Amino acid sequence: MATILDGSPASEGIASGKVFHLEWGMPLVPHVTIAEEEAPAEIERFHAARRWAQERLAELQSATEARLGPVEARIFEPQILMLDDSEVVDGTLRYIRENRLSAERAFEWRMLELQAMWNRTSHPMVLDRLNDLEDMVIRVLHRLLGHHDPTDLDDLEEGVIVVAKDLTPSLTVHLDPEKVLGVATDKGTRTAHWAILARSLEIPAVVGLGDATKRAQEGQPAILDGRIGRLVLDPGPQEVESFASRRAQLTSWEAEIEAVASLESVTADGQYFELRANLDLPAEAPHAVAHGAVGVGLMRTEFLVVGRNTMPSEEEQYEAYKAVAEAFPNGAVFIRTFDLGGDKFPMFLHMPREENPFLGWRAIRVCLDEPELFRTQLRALLRATAHGDVRMMLPLVNDVDEVRQVRELLEAEIKELNEKRIPYNRGFKLGVMIETPAAALDAAELARYCDFFSIGTNDLVQYTLAVDRTNTRLAKLYNPFHPAVVRQLHQIARVGRAAGIEVSVCGEMASNPLAAFLLLGLDITVLSMGWPSLPEIKKMLREVRIEDARKAARKALAAATSRDVQQCLVEGIGDSIDLKVFSGRWSLSLPE
Ligand code: PEP
Ligand code: MG
Repeated sequence: MATILDGSPASEGIASGKVFHLEWGMPLVPHVTIAEEEAPAEIERFHAARRWAQERLAELQSATEARLGPVEARIFEPQILMLDDSEVVDGTLRYIRENRLSAERAFEWRMLELQAMWNRTSHPMVLDRLNDLEDMVIRVLHRLLGHHDPTDLDDLEEGVIVVAKDLTPSLTVHLDPEKVLGVATDKGTRTAHWAILARSLEIPAVVGLGDATKRAQEGQPAILDGRIGRLVLDPGPQEVESFASRRAQLTSWEAEIEAVASLESVTADGQYFELRANLDLPAEAPHAVAHGAVGVGLMRTEFLVVGRNTMPSEEEQYEAYKAVAEAFPNGAVFIRTFDLGGDKFPMFLHMPREENPFLGWRAIRVCLDEPELFRTQLRALLRATAHGDVRMMLPLVNDVDEVRQVRELLEAEIKELNEKRIPYNRGFKLGVMIETPAAALDAAELARYCDFFSIGTNDLVQYTLAVDRTNTRLAKLYNPFHPAVVRQLHQIARVGRAAGIEVSVCGEMASNPLAAFLLLGLDITVLSMGWPSLPEIKKMLREVRIEDARKAARKALAAATSRDVQQCLVEGIGDSIDLKVFSGRWSLSLPE
């Protein structure tokens, strides 16, 4: 019997191969004490291992730069720097000298101490920092113990699906896409650094599987679906067959993408719609263009700060924003200000421990409290407006005061730019993401202070339904078709129309064919999504009629349950479109 494990999709694509357990754990370090006169030699051994690790990381950094570009390569910086950090080095030397410990034991003790300290004093979700730290510690310890380097995967067989507790950026860039067909992890989030890298390397990945490492056996046949976030162990004939047909579908679909990308975005009855891309990294812009995006509906900017121990400079940000603007000379580029907090924290912001991070110091709240960080970003954004239709978007806004405060900060920056005669677009646009029920209910007020709304359904669903979006256990309850969500979408669209401002959707929901049909029916005709989904959504929307979508949306608005909502939509689309064929990713959420 096949075992089916569901997690979260992290990198597109499907794969079939054999399980390979990547055990990248802390080695057992024996307790060895040394004689006083041995201390200098131990210290030298420690420095040699430290230098070796730094060299390996620097090599990886340049290989990554050549393969994926400078932004991705920067993720190694914290690890390299950490190995020079006086807290790390001096503390280890002290244990060698004063406690007469072997280099490996002294280093292990010091790192456990630091880890415990960071765990206590910083946010429990400083995932990246601890992840980076662990990566570096494991590497150095194996070296000191004289073990084979566990990151050396040269002998890996072809056709494997890597199963691990979690990955790290440096392990991910080691993975050879010729041999590693997919990655499945127990932990992790889509926004983890390594997941972003897996997407750039085009290695399918599923995260948050819970106990995949326990359930999967070495060498066991497996199918991984990075689109729906599923790992199938020991697939039976039925799963193998459906994999083959999904693969054939995807292959023929890939051949069609280019043609679809150049088609006009217009429904069968002549309604124009606009499709934009969501980007996590500037390097994704060319893919988005190739998949038919006419602009960027959401450029996440956290890549500039998460995992870094210094603030990104204005110049660095300006270059990154400008690069994306220049990739879309004829389209709008919505750049979102830092959405930190929740599950994303940079190392330089020292976070207090919070019980409910998603209800805590997050997004616009962090930015308004950290003027040095925020004003630098606003300046870089203003300067980028000189290079295209760059619009600024604020995350997690709850009330007009927050927008007012941002406008005041912008005024101050504009004054300086004027004084220094630095160019920017005086007619730049500022808008808000509608991500909370408070913002949805207060949309009419907010509309008076901004130029557009972009609905962040990932958060709107989470906050409306009180369901943590990262909790895999609650995945079934996280339902964007809940009537309370549908009614809010309707309300936001109506308010936006009345105020004469653009309303778009940039949450994952827009890439669900059924939901895209609903949004169209609610007269939300600008949709932004991960670029891989653009062609299939375009193809589907070109075959539907706006009149049918409106009719279905009207019925959906009167529905009592999410199931009924979906039923109205499926009926509205009719038999002419087989939604299951259209998108393997969402077939699970269709009613039977
Ligand atoms: C959202 O909340 O829908 C959104 C697009 O933002 P993020 O997923 O980055 O929170
Ligand atoms: Mg959000």
